[in-house]
Amino acid sequence: MNSKDYIQLEDAYGAQNYKPLDVVLTRGEGIWIWDVDGNRYLDCLSSYSAVNQGHCHPKIMRALIEQSQRLTLTSRAFRNDQLGLFYEELCELTHSHKVLPMNSGAEAVETVIKAVRKWGYKVKGVARDQAEIIVCANNFHGRTITIVGFSTDEHYREGFGPFTPGFKAIPFGNARALENAISSNTVGFLVEPIQGEAGVIVPPAGYLADAKKICEKNNVVFILDEIQTGLGRTGKILAEEHDHIEADLTLVGKALSGGFYPISAVLSNVEVLGVLRPGEHGSTFGGNPLACAVARMALRVLVEEGMVENAAKMGEYFISQLRNIKSRLIKEIRGRGLLIGVELLPEAGGARRFCEKLMKAGLLCKETHEDTIRFAPPLVIKKDEIDWALEKIEPVLMAADIC
Ligand SMILES: *Cc1c(COP(=O)(O)O)cnc(C)c1O
Repeated sequence: MNSKDYIQLEDAYGAQNYKPLDVVLTRGEGIWIWDVDGNRYLDCLSSYSAVNQGHCHPKIMRALIEQSQRLTLTSRAFRNDQLGLFYEELCELTHSHKVLPMNSGAEAVETVIKAVRKWGYKVKGVARDQAEIIVCANNFHGRTITIVGFSTDEHYREGFGPFTPGFKAIPFGNARALENAISSNTVGFLVEPIQGEAGVIVPPAGYLADAKKICEKNNVVFILDEIQTGLGRTGKILAEEHDHIEADLTLVGKALSGGFYPISAVLSNVEVLGVLRPGEHGSTFGGNPLACAVARMALRVLVEEGMVENAAKMGEYFISQLRNIKSRLIKEIRGRGLLIGVELLPEAGGARRFCEKLMKAGLLCKETHEDTIRFAPPLVIKKDEIDWALEKIEPVLMAADIC
């Protein structure tokens, strides 16, 4: 079978809820990934930052194999010998006190909504069914009905109503708007430290610290969705560290397993998670020993192999070199660590065709929203590999024939 055959099969039998680039991948190692025709690409998406540790990291792979030969699933009806160690190691790394493990990012978001609502009724004293959660315009928190219900992107919502009530959207990056939106029924403020899917939008300096202060003053739980920004991507374990703050609740997912296995978690600094009592929330696979063993190793290699520091250093280098590209099609280059967005001007005609050109040149990138190319390679990338990427990127961004 060749690429064409695989693509035909997918399209014949699969729901078309994605519009992938037509490259059929079969093997990965570190920052590199190969298609079925033997072409090699530098992965500049890292599966939306789930593969921060690089493809098929050998130590994580070994942890997965060893654990899968011993015990994979017990359900939470019983305890297992990986869960407590996973909790302890994750809490130590993120300076948290409590963990609630789930599988996908969206499930972690749903979990946090349940927990802060319950906290609102039990602890803050909000009247029954009146709890309100504030979110930001252009947010991305996942794809469930409740989550798309508070998206401000019509494309994510259209045709999926009716939606869950109890959410209010305010502009991102504006602390004053948060202060004005809070009422006595507000239980939580849910925000991404950097809006990844919106096009790598970095808020003004001091925004997160101000938001945290405002939440504290008003007895509102401050919730950071670090599913994409967390675990080294921005050059810190959590992006909140750039602002010297600690969220009350933090969501992690994606790179928590280095791309081997779905696992997510809600991390808690205040006692919000304590309001959940036995039977009020759960998941058959959440906290299973295989996920925990994989995540423990994924966290360990992130630290032991210096990936977080490397992301900071290489990210700075990558951005500065991108800024040297004098293309008249570039509107703005922004980012932090190895989460980088290159926004093109409208006359560039959308980022998609640039991604297709980059693919032909050996770089796998994905457009976010219409006009932004995201560069987010695995955190193990080295300087000469960034130089290799830049050699491919520059001519594509300079190409006259594209406009
Ligand atoms: C990917 C993502 C999610 C959703 O995670 P899934 O595992 O796809 O459900 C939530 N929030 C942010 C910021 C994300 O990037």
